[in-house]
Amino acid sequence: MAVDPNAPYDPDNIFARILRGEIPVVKVYEDEYALAFPDIAPQARIHVLIIPRGSYICATDFGERASEAEQAGLSRAIAHVATRLGVTGSGYRVISNTGADAGQEVAHYHLHLLAGEPLGTKLI
Ligand code: 5GP
Repeated sequence: MAVDPNAPYDPDNIFARILRGEIPVVKVYEDEYALAFPDIAPQARIHVLIIPRGSYICATDFGERASEAEQAGLSRAIAHVATRLGVTGSGYRVISNTGADAGQEVAHYHLHLLAGEPLGTKLI
């Protein structure tokens, strides 16, 4: 079911459970602001999800409520992940879906990082 960006944050959404360590993931990167792990259903050769540690539903919520440190931290995490994956030279795409029209399925703000092949118009 698509996420309603106006609903209250659900502390039992799948990414909140991953953050609490209740569901194991391969950690591509982590720091005090962000966690990155492979998408369970990759849409490109490399498909990593980058999520803030804070409880935010979507891009609007994150942009409105996250502190400047959290926003900077997530932005820097993108660069750290891309560097760790070795794709800064070949290139990558970062996408965030918010709400029903964008097809957001998980109600914890996340960025999709796609890489590892020519992406063309591939969106997720
Ligand atoms: P959205 O459609 O909300 O932008 O993207 C949600 C993403 O989360 C999808 O690409 C989906 O494959 C991924 N996903 C859903 N459940 C899990 C899970 O339990 N583990 C991982 N690693 N990814 C998940």
